[in-house]
Amino acid sequence: ATPTSIMVGTGRGAELGVLFRRGEALQLLKDAKVVAVDKTGTLTEGRPVLTDLDVAEGFERDSLLAKVGAVESKSEHPIARAIVAAATENGQSLPSLTDFESVTGMGVRALVEGSLVEVGADRFMRQLGLDLKVFAQTAERLGQEGKSPLYAAINGQLAGIIAVADPIKTSTPGAIAALHQLGLKVAMITGDNAKTAHAIARQLGIDEVIAEVMPEGKVNAVRRLKATYGQIAFVGDGINDAPALAEADVGLAIGTGTDIAVESADVVLMSGNLQGVPDAIALSKATIGNIH
Ligand code: ADP
Ligand code: MG
Repeated sequence: ATPTSIMVGTGRGAELGVLFRRGEALQLLKDAKVVAVDKTGTLTEGRPVLTDLDVAEGFERDSLLAKVGAVESKSEHPIARAIVAAATENGQSLPSLTDFESVTGMGVRALVEGSLVEVGADRFMRQLGLDLKVFAQTAERLGQEGKSPLYAAINGQLAGIIAVADPIKTSTPGAIAALHQLGLKVAMITGDNAKTAHAIARQLGIDEVIAEVMPEGKVNAVRRLKATYGQIAFVGDGINDAPALAEADVGLAIGTGTDIAVESADVVLMSGNLQGVPDAIALSKATIGNIH
């Protein structure tokens, strides 16, 4: 491609809300075979809501929700905001807590009114030595519904199962269809539960799912996709996505995402949604493909 065609393409991109931070990205995108996409905040709104809460025998719903809400009030995870919102929706104030701790990719814990309260993924509970089988059927159903199951433990005893659901952005299905139209495969990379991830992928026609990935595992997932398919574009919005954005042949950040994601990306999608990705690839094919 000539410097002029790159300039023209970059200018056209800006009109479409696709900001090329690196000119090379415009040349590379046309050769992408797979678009790997972060789930939360990229495919979905990133604003989950609490949809279900079942308690184990001997526990009471409102008091459990208050304790869990207290712990989550110290966390910045989108899941935490959903739980705090539910726990305070009727104006309740949350109990006080001490010794808050966040376990990356797992969950959170704190002391609330003398009780140790732990909330997080199934793998977090298993690490704590808890048996989740009383909630196995519930978890199965929640996953099939595309909801993310979480668990709460009080003083080392399984106390409840909580589900959050994160709505899919209205722009997502069209963007995935456009990527397929351009002959690309779409892969999802997520820290979320495998059942939930597969249910959402099925609903969206996503070709491949890599789920239950720890934050530092997203880079490895991108490496594996590169080894299997060749050129990989990765799309993400979160702090966790920054290394994967850098590792991909082309990293595309959702413009409304975190600063670190934007700074690690080659391309920034100002629209704040996935439609910028097929737009950018089509632009790359049009500009670089035609002018040599
Ligand atoms: P993701 O971006 O996919 O949520 P994370 O690595 O941030 O990936 O989290 C992985 C999993 O750990 C979450 O899906 C959730 O099950 C659990 N988790 C993380 N933070 C919290 C939290 N504050 N409260 C409850 N669960 C959490
Ligand atoms: Mg995200």
